[in-house]
Amino acid sequence: MARPLTPPPHHFGRKGEAPPPGTVTGNQVHGTVVLRLGGHPPALSGADGDVVLTHLPGATVGVRTADCLPLLLSARNGTVVAAVHAGWRGTVAQVAAAAVRAMESDHGVTPKEIHAWLGPCIRPCCYEVGPELAATVREHFPQWAGQVIGTFRSGRPTLDVALLNRLQLTALGVTRIDDSGACTHCHNGYESYRRDGAASGRMVSWIRCAPEEPA
Ligand SMILES: [Zn+2]
Repeated sequence: MARPLTPPPHHFGRKGEAPPPGTVTGNQVHGTVVLRLGGHPPALSGADGDVVLTHLPGATVGVRTADCLPLLLSARNGTVVAAVHAGWRGTVAQVAAAAVRAMESDHGVTPKEIHAWLGPCIRPCCYEVGPELAATVREHFPQWAGQVIGTFRSGRPTLDVALLNRLQLTALGVTRIDDSGACTHCHNGYESYRRDGAASGRMVSWIRCAPEEPA
């Protein structure tokens, strides 16, 4: 009998929290490289990449952020999971799509099977950006620019990174998407690079791969 659809253990980090021991994160470089964690012992920590994908039962993968979007993905009752780092650069480069496609090519997971969670990140209430970035987003995503680019009280543009990731996931066919809605810059319980600069730390959000499905 199929087990009930249960999300695997996952958590969005807050200021001062430590991730579970053994959490594997990549050396995030604002790109779209997918790190695959597929052997014992997990030894990928520190390799360059902004997605960590695993199907290793019990393995925990994580993403470090302070304003960038942490995106957690799960499929098949958590037997395939990924942690994604999506700042504006990775979002423009469609790092979420890279993660979804890797789940598909490696494990045959279809987008409809994926559950996505969008974590705390800097939101349009606080994310004033330069006109160059707004122009880049308009160029790459003309169909969504009106939704994701707004106007800050200064008159300069804002960017909704979380919404742009949601739209990308939806376009790929992912239907189960939960958004925390939280703004790292508004709430002191989160690290925010924009607010605290070099003094800001990084929060680790993580997701743990479920045990194997019984045969
Ligand atoms: Zn805010």
